[in-house]
Amino acid sequence: MHTGGTPNGSVLYSRLMDWLTPEQRSRNMSAIRSRGNKSTEKAVRFRMIRAGLSGWKLCTGTLPGKPDFVFETAKVVVFLDGCYWHGCPKCYRAPTSNTGYWSEKFRRNKDRDKRVGQLLRRDGWKVVRIWEHEIKRSPAKVVEKIRALIVSPPSGRLCESASTS
Ligand SMILES: [Zn+2]
Repeated sequence: MHTGGTPNGSVLYSRLMDWLTPEQRSRNMSAIRSRGNKSTEKAVRFRMIRAGLSGWKLCTGTLPGKPDFVFETAKVVVFLDGCYWHGCPKCYRAPTSNTGYWSEKFRRNKDRDKRVGQLLRRDGWKVVRIWEHEIKRSPAKVVEKIRALIVSPPSGRLCESASTS
């Protein structure tokens, strides 16, 4: 007998959970509990799980800048940057009021991002920064970009700059 539908989100989610081993599942669940509900992070996380990308953890809080994803074995950290707060050159719109305050704030954010990247690279991490708009446009592409770094680390360049189009 039909009992009616469940919300789409939970159906997708439980299907996703079915594909994981119990260990992966509990790790994934605790990871979800320990962090907020950032939609971009969630989009990337689900794609990574579906793409079979493993070996990552959510931000542990011990690394500079608190990267969103950490691949310890591959020594890769991934930051998902909000276009607004991190001053995406593509999406940035200068605020029309309080301009002094905001431009100072954005400048500080950018400086911090730069410093954090330098610190991490010095410690041997590969740093990937992904813009929010890239995730919104094509999460699959973003996951492929991450996978390329995990599976076959480039020998020369450490960090690929944000993709253009
Ligand atoms: Zn952007």
